[in-house]
Amino acid sequence: MNVADSELIEGMLSQEGYTPIREMSKADAIFVNTCAIREHAEGKVHSRLGLFNKVKRDNPGVIIGVLGCMAQNLKDELLVNKPYVDIILGPDAYRKLPDYLRRNEKKNHIVDTKLSRFEVYDDLFPSRKQGINAWVSIMRGCDKFCTFCIVPFTRGRERSRGIDSIIAEVSQAVSDGFVEITLLGQNVNSYQYDSVGFPKLLEAVAAVEGVHRIRYTSPHPQDVTEELLDVMASHESICNSIHFPLQSGSDRILKRMNRTYTKEHFNHQVDMMREKIPHIGISTDIIVGFPGEAETDFQDTLDVASQVQFDSAFTFKYSARPYTKAVEYEDQISEEEKQDRLERLILLQREHTLEKNKKTIGSIQSVLIEKESKKSTSQWAGRTDSNKWVIFPKENAAIKETVPVQILNTSGISLQGKIVHNY
Ligand code: SAH
Ligand code: SF4
Repeated sequence: MNVADSELIEGMLSQEGYTPIREMSKADAIFVNTCAIREHAEGKVHSRLGLFNKVKRDNPGVIIGVLGCMAQNLKDELLVNKPYVDIILGPDAYRKLPDYLRRNEKKNHIVDTKLSRFEVYDDLFPSRKQGINAWVSIMRGCDKFCTFCIVPFTRGRERSRGIDSIIAEVSQAVSDGFVEITLLGQNVNSYQYDSVGFPKLLEAVAAVEGVHRIRYTSPHPQDVTEELLDVMASHESICNSIHFPLQSGSDRILKRMNRTYTKEHFNHQVDMMREKIPHIGISTDIIVGFPGEAETDFQDTLDVASQVQFDSAFTFKYSARPYTKAVEYEDQISEEEKQDRLERLILLQREHTLEKNKKTIGSIQSVLIEKESKKSTSQWAGRTDSNKWVIFPKENAAIKETVPVQILNTSGISLQGKIVHNY
């Protein structure tokens, strides 16, 4: 989401005549687009700001801006402790950036963190780097209020973008040479604009000529419907992969998290996915050490993970976030316990990823070539429909081509293979 927002901001600044440069010391303005989801993400920004401060000492004229969720969340702290930051803009205020730069009121700090019920930036075109995948934002904000999550506070209320402007952006991306579209939203499948829901939108995107692959992230389990899976199953270009965030496998903790589903419902949805879309790749997000999580609750999470056998998982230690309900819970878990559970979960997931990947050995996968392998200039790296990376000899194939690749081996997360001819 932040990459997409940065492209949007870059698009606006380009129209104002700004161009990106690599050397910070020569910049007229430096912006950092920030994330507040976990404390760790904020820590990274603080150290980056220290670097910007040094640049500013040598070049006092440079404008420094903090954009996005941290601006929303930490504006007071930034104003007091980081006076060298000139501009602080929340996620619904990007549109005003060119105006603020024009005014260049360097002596006064500019702070705009007002949230909007309507802003979806639908008339602005992002400036994308040449590549394979175009991120297309379709909805913003979140109304779900999971008790651990800061998003509803930093990004505000849920709102969807009109289908016409989404389709126009997809068509533009295709004519700019992008072959894969990833639809983006905090809860992408809660999309609703007039009578158009997410499955209908997916169909409309699939109907745009030249779109080879469609992905989307992040869906909320509550809104994964049979209709959505049917649409996925019936369109070749919609990838056989889904990010399906579990968060916890304990019903008691899920309830405390306000996740609105039970482990039974989650498992049922996984069964439905696999029935309708065989070989679907399923990834997930899991939080360990949520307040009050007992060892038995954590075991429930391990059990669900073992039952589902996710292809991959993003695993996090619970991070207490301001404004959220869970930060007030008294039964916080110690750092050592969180670390221990995280490590046990990672070990288990590693086994599952390896097992799932081993099962692909011998199969022929359709792979979209994305880039040269980091390890060898004679090999390509590309992704399968189910979102697994495959490394294979280049032969005569080229970036952006989709080729049949036979899987020969796996060492863990990625697969190794060779192109199949006459397939
Ligand atoms: N809307 C998506 C998730 C967006 S946030 C959903 O509902 O699934 C991305 C991930 O960050 C979440 O899935 C969650 O696993 C993690 N996350 C969010 N808040 C967190 C917190 N306070 N501590 C640890 N992980 C958190
Ligand atoms: Fe955060 Fe996702 Fe829950 Fe919304 S649904 S509050 S973005 S975790």
